Amino acid sequence: MDRGLRADYLQTLGIDVWVPRAGTGGSRRAAVAGRAAEPVLTDEPISGGARPAAVSPAGAQPSPAALAASGDDPEWAGQKIAGSDFGRREAAVPQGRDPGWVEQWEALREEVLRCTRCNLHAGRTQGVFGVGNPQAEWMVIGEAPGAEEDRRGEPFVGRAGQLLDAMLRAIGLSRAQNVYIANVLKSRPPNNRDPRPEEVGACLPYLRRQIELVRPRLLLAVGRIAAQNLLGTEESLSRLRGRVHRFGELNTPLVVTYHPAYLLRTPADKRKAWEDLKFARSVFRQLTAGSEDGHRS
Ligand code: URA
Repeated sequence: MDRGLRADYLQTLGIDVWVPRAGTGGSRRAAVAGRAAEPVLTDEPISGGARPAAVSPAGAQPSPAALAASGDDPEWAGQKIAGSDFGRREAAVPQGRDPGWVEQWEALREEVLRCTRCNLHAGRTQGVFGVGNPQAEWMVIGEAPGAEEDRRGEPFVGRAGQLLDAMLRAIGLSRAQNVYIANVLKSRPPNNRDPRPEEVGACLPYLRRQIELVRPRLLLAVGRIAAQNLLGTEESLSRLRGRVHRFGELNTPLVVTYHPAYLLRTPADKRKAWEDLKFARSVFRQLTAGSEDGHRS
């Protein structure tokens, strides 16, 4: 990974970086202050597998698996990041999927945008379906749209969204290219209150369906609310971090980290979030080991 770029990312995350002075010995590696050892998997065995490949949307982009294996970031590799409206572009049928995939995806989007299953529809500007590459191997799950997301119809576009983008960029991910981002709730709760159980109950089937259609290799739940609702647990976020959980019918591996809005309020925990991101990246690498040809399990 390019050191300068990495330092920029870590600085955006608020993590100090130690860089050796010129002439002090190039063999010393730049060190992140307080860097943790590469995390180890603690509960679930991870195996690579043979799910059919998902083709990257532009056709010519290397898969995230290949990027992760090579250590290259899309930007370092000179890849042009597509426009930020990826999620609104026409979806193409991913290779190895049902030929009706596009219709199913669009029907789901329409249903979400028209949904009146819970009372939140009455106060929202619009439903917020999701954004990113619907063929991505990574999927990030947040809690619910906030005011800015409600206004713009896209998840994570406020300050927390900017931090999320920086966090993802630090591990080579971008909503414009190789990650899909969605929330547990598709409608904004008033005054940013926590989602109510009946709202989660009404909305979670949409997210389940999105996950079934995207079929990511790895889910990253950001924040306690997303993690607890996805995992059906009341365990604290600190207990859920650093482990590989499983979600849904497809048993998709799921890793938990802090919500970027929390990190904006509690910058001291950004270092722990960085550990989580490295953990997620190492899990992803294990999942894709031996399948650098892009084949998913
Ligand atoms: N927080 C979330 O959890 N999701 C968003 O989309 C925005 C803020």
